[in-house]
Amino acid sequence: MDQAKYEAMLQVALEEARQGFAEGGIPIGAALFTEDGELVSRGHNRRVQEDDSSIHGETDAFRKAGRQRSYRKLIMVTTLSPCWYCSGLVRQFGIGTVVVGESRTFRGGADWLRENGVNIIDLDSAECRELLERYVAAHPEVWNEDIGKE
Ligand SMILES: [Zn+2]
Repeated sequence: MDQAKYEAMLQVALEEARQGFAEGGIPIGAALFTEDGELVSRGHNRRVQEDDSSIHGETDAFRKAGRQRSYRKLIMVTTLSPCWYCSGLVRQFGIGTVVVGESRTFRGGADWLRENGVNIIDLDSAECRELLERYVAAHPEVWNEDIGKE
């Protein structure tokens, strides 16, 4: 699959992140696609909105995908490099490809996933980074809570 297709998928995750931002939440979005680029599900971080630490962009999209027989050929697209919790989800269910919007704000488990055979495509998106940095600058305490930093 070419870069332009991954960029188009990232736009869906980015729309989710922007929606989260508009709701007053942490702007991280994600989506699941088939290998043919068909959208399966989408979601965003709702820690603040739902008072629920377990709703990350990736887990929200994952839950909305319902039961899938296999995850090997699915593509997880996320605006930010997946945290350890979401990286664990990727390994547990055998998701084959993860498209990362950016990994500068937060590195997460991208290297660990790559070392374990997951196809990681980091698009290094300035749009993703700027949106999240804007939120982190305004709400550092919520951000630290989200990444488990005390
Ligand atoms: Zn996560």
